Amino acid sequence: MSFESLGLAPALLRALTDQGYAEPTPVQAGSIPLVIAGHDLLAAAQTGTGKTAAFALPVIHKLIDAGAPQTRRPRVLVLTPTRELAAQVNDNFRDYAKYVRVATTTIFGGVGMGPQINALRRGVDVVIATPGRLIDHMQQRTIDLGGIDTLVLDEADRMLDMGFLPALKRVLSALPKQRQTLLFSATFAPAIKALAMQFMREPKEVSV
Ligand code: AMP
Repeated sequence: MSFESLGLAPALLRALTDQGYAEPTPVQAGSIPLVIAGHDLLAAAQTGTGKTAAFALPVIHKLIDAGAPQTRRPRVLVLTPTRELAAQVNDNFRDYAKYVRVATTTIFGGVGMGPQINALRRGVDVVIATPGRLIDHMQQRTIDLGGIDTLVLDEADRMLDMGFLPALKRVLSALPKQRQTLLFSATFAPAIKALAMQFMREPKEVSV
């Protein structure tokens, strides 16, 4: 199995060579073709399995495929339980997107709103956010979620454990219905399945 055979764009393959990734991990091999094909995805994967690249690579691939946007309002939203994970996911996106024009930013609490508002105004393709601060931006109308066509819930079980279910529901209800939803979780606990039933469309399952 190679990254080439998964159908990823040449600019991504070049970035992966720079990263020193020789071949996809199992969660990447399982997820990447399904995401490129447009399916909703329910993936069971622990940290350390390469789960971040399993969603970041096909998401960037689809942004390249879609071409230059009409406006620079965000098209992809990634929700993470913590600011540390948001920062890490953002670093990964930037590493993988180094040869393409895909702009990303993070939105999390504990730092000022100002720089986040400025980054959103300048225009980004991908927003990586924690739920609480995202809701602050929604309330202040400093983020436009009307162009989101891809949602990623990263470490969804941890978000539920941390009490983010009401926040998640609120964000999910505010997003365009016509979208692709990818949910990554260490386990498929009943609460995760319930979330998937309510907010996803015939998700394909990948577990490693
Ligand atoms: P994650 O599970 O997303 O936290 O990734 C764990 C680590 O594996 C990160 O340091 C990644 O850079 C690395 N990684 C992800 N995919 C691959 C791959 N296909 N080959 C080698 N390392 C990888």
